[in-house]
Formats: sequence, C-alpha cells, structure tokens
Amino acid sequence: MNRIDPCVKSDSSELLSLDQALEQIFASVKPVTGKQTLNLKDCLDRIIAEDIESGVNIPPHRNSSMDGYAFNTRDIVTSGLSNLTVAGTSWAGKPYSKSLSPGQCVRIFTGAAVPENADTVIMQEDIKRFDDSIEIPFGSVKAGENLRFPGDDVAKGQKVVSSGKRLRAEDLGVLASIGQLTVPVTRKLRVAFFSTGDELRTLGRHLEYGEIYDSNRYTLYGLLESLGVDALDMGAIPDNLEEIKTVLTEAAGVSDVIISTGGASVGEADFLFQALKAIGKIKFWKIAIKPGKPLLFGNINGQSYFGLPGNPVSVAVTFHKVVSPALKLMMGDKYQSPLTIKARCGSILTKAMGRQEFQRGLLEREENGELIVNPFRSQGSHVLSSMSQSNCYIVLPEESTGVRKGEYVDVELFATF
Ligand code: AMP
Ligand code: MG
Repeated sequence: MNRIDPCVKSDSSELLSLDQALEQIFASVKPVTGKQTLNLKDCLDRIIAEDIESGVNIPPHRNSSMDGYAFNTRDIVTSGLSNLTVAGTSWAGKPYSKSLSPGQCVRIFTGAAVPENADTVIMQEDIKRFDDSIEIPFGSVKAGENLRFPGDDVAKGQKVVSSGKRLRAEDLGVLASIGQLTVPVTRKLRVAFFSTGDELRTLGRHLEYGEIYDSNRYTLYGLLESLGVDALDMGAIPDNLEEIKTVLTEAAGVSDVIISTGGASVGEADFLFQALKAIGKIKFWKIAIKPGKPLLFGNINGQSYFGLPGNPVSVAVTFHKVVSPALKLMMGDKYQSPLTIKARCGSILTKAMGRQEFQRGLLEREENGELIVNPFRSQGSHVLSSMSQSNCYIVLPEESTGVRKGEYVDVELFATF
C-alpha cells in the first residue's frame, strides 16, 4: 500500500468511517471569533453570539385572555343572579386606570390590563348585558379565571436565547417581545468554492461534443446560501495542476473555508490531491461512504479545505454529511446529528458490504398510516435528479448487504439539513 500520510488511507479496507472523519474534522476546525451587532430584523438564521436575558416581565402587566368583563368575586352573590354596574372599558393599550368600587365591573378585551382590584374575568358569552350593567348567573364564575400574569411567558432576568442558537423566526419574535432592538451575532463564515474539470461549461454557452454544464457550482451555491455563509464563487477551473494551486492559494487568502468539486480521485486528470500536498496539509483522503468516497480534507495556510468528488450526487451527500456539520461548528452553531426515522422499504435494495450508503428515496405516509420509503429508480452518483426528486436519504450501515422489500430502514429527511 502506498501510504501518503499517517492518516491518509488509500486501501479500501482501511477507509475512515464517516464518524471517524467527522471526529478528525471537529478536532481540526474552530469556531470563528468575530462578532457583529445587527438590527433584530437582520438576524434571521444568524448565530447569536451571547446569552440574552430579559430586562422585563412578559407579559408586563396582568391582563385578560378573553373578551368579557372584569370584576371582583367578593361582589358575586352565593345564589341567584349577580348584578354589576359597568363602570367603563379596559381596551388593549388603553387601560381602565381607576379602581373598581364595590358592585362594579369593566368591559374588557383580550390583552387589556385588568384593573387592580378585579380578580376574575368572565367571558362575554356567559353573561347578560343591559345598558350599563350585566347579569351573571349563579355558578358561572370560577375565581381567578381568564387572567394572564406578569412573567407567565418570560420572567425578568430569565435567559430567553442561549449563545450559539441559530435564530428562527420565533426567536426574533421572542427577542422583540423583550424589546431587544439589536443582537450580537457571530460574523459570517467566508467560504470560497470552485469546480474543476475541462469538460465544464458555464450556463449560457453552447455545449460542444463531450462538454457538460457546471451544475455543481449551483448546487454548492444553494447549499452554502441556505446555511447562511458568505459564499464566494471562484468559477470553473480546468484540470491543470498549476491553475488549481493558484486558485487554492487565492481562495485561502480570502476565506475561512475552501471547497472544490471534481478531480479528487486517482485518475490522470485528478490534481486536487497533488495540489493540496504541494501547498497545504492533507488530513485525510477517502471515506467509507457511498456516494462520496474520494473526499479530501486538509488545510491551506490555516484555512480548512474540502475537496469534494465531481459526481453531482456525491457533492450533495458529502456536503450534507461532512461539510455542513463542519461549517456549522465554525459558525458557532450547535452540531446535531440528523434525526433518523424508521420506515418500511418499498422495494428491494442492493448493497455491497463495506461503506455506509446514502440512497435517495421518497418518504410517504400510506393510507394505513404507515411510513414507507421508495428508493429512486436510479442510484448512480451522476443522477442528480435523484436528489431533486427525492425527499430523504435511506441510510444503510457499512455492514449491510442489502434490504428486502418491507424491511425497516433508517431514513433522514433532507429538510433536516
Ligand atoms: P471527477 O471527480 O472530476 O472525476 O468527476 C466525476 C464526474 O462528475 C464526471 O462525470 C464529471 O464530468 C462530473 N462532474 C465533475 N464536475 C462537475 C460539475 N461541476 N458539474 C457537473 N458534473 C461534474
Ligand atoms: Mg474531473
């Protein structure tokens, strides 16, 4: 065996497992340290850089959860009808600010402050209204009903969002509810990417015999954008060692992470391994997954480098399974392994032992409520439509030698990534 580096394994019996590869990557990458403060509206999908505590109670005041009438239960008689005078109205935003005198109630709406000496709100459906009074039937009052208390949602001093969380729409809402105008977030990760291959043409150009359009850069662009990084497209580079070394060096000068596609295998036109060896450091090459085996990882001038295979499905799979967890960690995001669902397999699956496979499938719920996953008709790593028309990976462990129809398999939804 021709060993290139202590941790570079080229014999297929010694490939790194996905978990081993991730372990090496996690040990090698570090979260970016820069922070910036943004207006709350610009923080969607950004990683919050500090814990945020509330300076206020939410709700800030005792208020009604119903449209109805607020009163004090001491004014309710123990049998028959209770009559209360309507002293005024408490609107949401325009509270009734006086105290209730004995025998009085106020008309009140959802969210409106409940007058201090009222202890209950009755729903408008439960009373009879006259011009300036209401009649409450005996037995329809439950003391303390329909009130919302200060701090029910968030108490003053409580942590509302923890550092490292990717902010979702609801988090923006929570931060707005405590009056947070600006938010500290980690700076965006800069990721430079390019494709390699003499056969690649950019869109808008006519294809000559033997050429194809460069789809990988579009897949990568979308994957990177949806992660929320600053994606820098460095174009399509020919299969030429010197040109590849040049673009790698340039990319390392302007980014935190470099990603290439193609040329990562062992053919005569595959130069990424040689290029990385010449100008950077190789950490590992090739992992025991399918598709996506010829994955190259290392660094160039301290910046992490991922050399993805050229086959379009391999690009997506290696991005989801390897690159994305690494980028998330660097962004200060918390890494969570994808949720696995068990589903019955709709047809037979063939597989050779040795590598973990990520076959593409469509997960659906049958009429009887059972989850069933149907593998895409072709599992070739060149069949990009298998990614586009499926909604999940069918994950088959290294030791699996195939699946019978109806057998349970592990499924990971693309939407998880
Ligand atoms: P390679 O890893 O360079 O040997 O490429 C493997 C396969 O992926 C070949 O069929 C290439 O033509 C194809 N391929 C490589 N790069 C791209 C790309 N950017 N877009 C679409 N297909 C590609
Ligand atoms: Mg190539």
